[in-house]
Amino acid sequence: MIPQTQLIDTKQAWQIALANVVKDPKELLKQLGLTNKLTSIDGEIINKFPLRVPQNYINKMRVGDENDPLLRQVFPFIDEAEQVEGFVNDPVGDNLAISSPGILQKYHGRALLLTTGACAIHCRYCFRRHFPYGDSNPLAKQWQQTVQALNNDHHLNEVILSGGDPLVLTDNKLAKMVTDIEQIPHIKRLRIHTRLPIVLPERIDYFLLQWMKETRLNVIMVVHANHANEIDDAVEKALLDLREAGCQLLNQSVLLKGVNDDVESLVALSERLSDVSVMPYYLHLLDPVAGAGHFDVSDKKGIKLIDEIRKYLPGYLVPRLVREQQGEASKTPIN
Ligand SMILES: *Cc1c(COP(=O)(O)O)cnc(C)c1O
Ligand code: SF4
Repeated sequence: MIPQTQLIDTKQAWQIALANVVKDPKELLKQLGLTNKLTSIDGEIINKFPLRVPQNYINKMRVGDENDPLLRQVFPFIDEAEQVEGFVNDPVGDNLAISSPGILQKYHGRALLLTTGACAIHCRYCFRRHFPYGDSNPLAKQWQQTVQALNNDHHLNEVILSGGDPLVLTDNKLAKMVTDIEQIPHIKRLRIHTRLPIVLPERIDYFLLQWMKETRLNVIMVVHANHANEIDDAVEKALLDLREAGCQLLNQSVLLKGVNDDVESLVALSERLSDVSVMPYYLHLLDPVAGAGHFDVSDKKGIKLIDEIRKYLPGYLVPRLVREQQGEASKTPIN
């Protein structure tokens, strides 16, 4: 057993990796031998949503390949300046669905908590890229009020920790939140929406596994990988540790032009997920967020791709193609 004081006094390895994420597009290009090959966007757009990518994630990119599917997800291409009709700042209407502070409730039985605005990586297609909450923790100030609201709503049986990425919070903070949620008798499930096991697998360490093993709640973790190349040995180890700790693992992806919009990539992703005991859950059609027009794949092509991959995969490895539509009672299935 590692003494508790160590948790308080020393930075955990993942916190060091998080502090050392690459933020300079030139540095990223240099590492990949792509200096002068690609131009990044500049000025206000990049300042508002800067490049941010963990070193381990860069290590999984192919050197010298400007079309690398991981690079495409994080590099602020000049295309972001292009204004595309229908691509707006709040495409899923989340700003409207905030009921109590920090709680987003759109669907029956489950409440989504915006635990933090911060992420380890900045995905250029992210629908939250224009959100006003910055790096702040929207829950910090009124946590008791949030717990009260969850306690008062007896229709709820599941709490979803989301963000940003909830796993950038310290284990002390997370364990405290989970302890408070556990006290609410009608809550059965704790769901965690996170990209960290994929982009910063160091995060899945002893301390995290410890509080996860101890909770009475049924823990479901929904990770986010878009391409098989994102899942290397370190990620595999993190995911297997989570499973051993009793966590059910699902994956959601976004269908992205130039990243995974072909049969081969989607089949390889599902196969790789299956290798590491993760079930494909959703394949999201892109939310039309301003600056992400260059990732757009049409509904028609999405449907065709799903029909194709069905021929190569067992049914349980075919993700559900969905879109988020304002005012609907669930994600909207597309085929
Ligand atoms: C996507 C989402 C959920 C989860 O939906 P499931 O279909 O249960 O995965 C819950 N709340 C909000 C606000 C969401 O956007
Ligand atoms: S990790 Fe998730 S929330 Fe964060 S930028 Fe990427 S897609 Fe958005």
